[in-house]
Amino acid sequence: MLLAIDVKRTIADLKTLAAFGKFESGVNRRALTIEDIAARAWLMGRMQAANLEASIDGIGNVIGVTPGCQRYIIIASHSDTVPKGGWLDGAMGVIFGLEIARALVETGESTDIGIKVISFNDEEGRFAGLLGSSVFCGLKTLDQVAELSTEDGITLNDALQKAGYAGQTIVTFDPVQDIAYLEAHIEQGPVLESNNRKIGIVTEIIGAERARVLFFGQSDHAGTTPMVMRKDAAAALYEFAVRFAEFCREYGSDSTVWNLGYARLEPGAYNVVARESELYIEYRDTSTEILGRIRKAIPELAAEIGTKFNVSHQFFPGICISPEVMDLKLLERIEAAAGRCDASCMRMPSGGGHDAMLFARKVPTAMMFVPSIGGRSHDVAEDTHEADINLGLNVLGEIVSDIIDNGLSVSNK
Ligand SMILES: [Zn+2]
Repeated sequence: MLLAIDVKRTIADLKTLAAFGKFESGVNRRALTIEDIAARAWLMGRMQAANLEASIDGIGNVIGVTPGCQRYIIIASHSDTVPKGGWLDGAMGVIFGLEIARALVETGESTDIGIKVISFNDEEGRFAGLLGSSVFCGLKTLDQVAELSTEDGITLNDALQKAGYAGQTIVTFDPVQDIAYLEAHIEQGPVLESNNRKIGIVTEIIGAERARVLFFGQSDHAGTTPMVMRKDAAAALYEFAVRFAEFCREYGSDSTVWNLGYARLEPGAYNVVARESELYIEYRDTSTEILGRIRKAIPELAAEIGTKFNVSHQFFPGICISPEVMDLKLLERIEAAAGRCDASCMRMPSGGGHDAMLFARKVPTAMMFVPSIGGRSHDVAEDTHEADINLGLNVLGEIVSDIIDNGLSVSNK
C-alpha cells in the first residue's frame, strides 16, 4: 500500500487549525469555547472534504472514518489546548490522522483495514482531563460527567447544549472493529533533541498521583511567642515538603518525578505564626510498586510531622492514574518503519498523560513522539521543526501502510 502523503497539505491544515483561538505565537483553545467549537466544525468539514464519514458525537469527539472497511486503526489525539498553549500539542496527531486517512481514500483501493481519525474532546481538562477518550472507551457515561463544571461554573451539560452536540449519539470503542490505536504527539520535553533523535517510541505512559495535605496550628505573635511554644503550621508544611522530596529521591526510581505545585499559608504575614497551611503534591512513575510505596508513606509522614510541630493535620488523597505499558510488537514495528524512513529513533517513557493510555488495556496501542524545540510545550513558545513534523508523518504513514498490508499479527522483528 503506497500512501501518497502530502506534507504541504498537512502543514497547511495545521496552520489553519492554529488560527482558531490564535494567541501570540500559540493557541488559546480550551475545550468547548467558541474557538474550539469553530475548530471542531472546521475539522469535520475537512474530514468530509476528504470523503470520510464524519460526525461530531454527543460528547464532542470529532470522528472521521474511511468508508467501506471492516476493521479500523484508530489514529487520534486532541484539538483542545491548555490556556495560552502551543499549536501542535494534540493538533499534530489529529491532523496526521486526517492526512493518512485522506491519502488512503485517495488510493481508490478498497482495503479491509481502514482508519478512524478522532479528535477527543477536552484532553487537557477544562471539565475533566481525558474526557472525550474516557467516554469513548466506556470508562465514564455521559450522565456521570454531565454536571462537571469549569472554574467559572459552566457545566459540561450546558456547554454541550450550546455547542449543539447534546443529544447526538455517543460513539464508543468497538472491540470487534477497532484493532489498534496509534497516536503521534510532540514530545513536550527535551530528551529527543538532546539525544539528537527524530522519533521517540513510547514504551510506557507514566502514572501520576496527587494528594493535598493541610496542617492546623495557632496564630501567635512571631516576636513574643517562644519557639518551643509555637504551633507553627508553616514550619510543618516546609518540613513535609522537604521530607516528601527526600523520600521520592531515596525510594523512587530514576524515572520518579514529583512536584510541589501549590502552597498556601494563613494568615501569611511577616510577624504572625501561620495558623494553617496547605500543600498540593504530585508524583509520577512508570512503576505501580513505586507509586504505591510513595502513596503509603506520605500520610504517615504528615502524621509524624504533625506530632513533631504540635499541629493537627488532614490528608486528602487525589487522583491515581496508573502507568500503562504500550504494545511491544507495535513498538518494534514502529522502529522498523522509522528505519525504512531513515529516521533515528529511541525508546522512551512518556512523562505526560495522553488519550493513548486509556486504550492500552483494550487494543494494541502505540505512541510516537517528534522533537519539541527546546523541550517547550504548554506555552506559546511550543514548536517543532517542519522537517521533523514531515518525518514523523512519514513514519506514521509507513506503520499504517504496514498494518493495512500485513495485519497486526506479523512482527518485523
Ligand atoms: Zn497533548
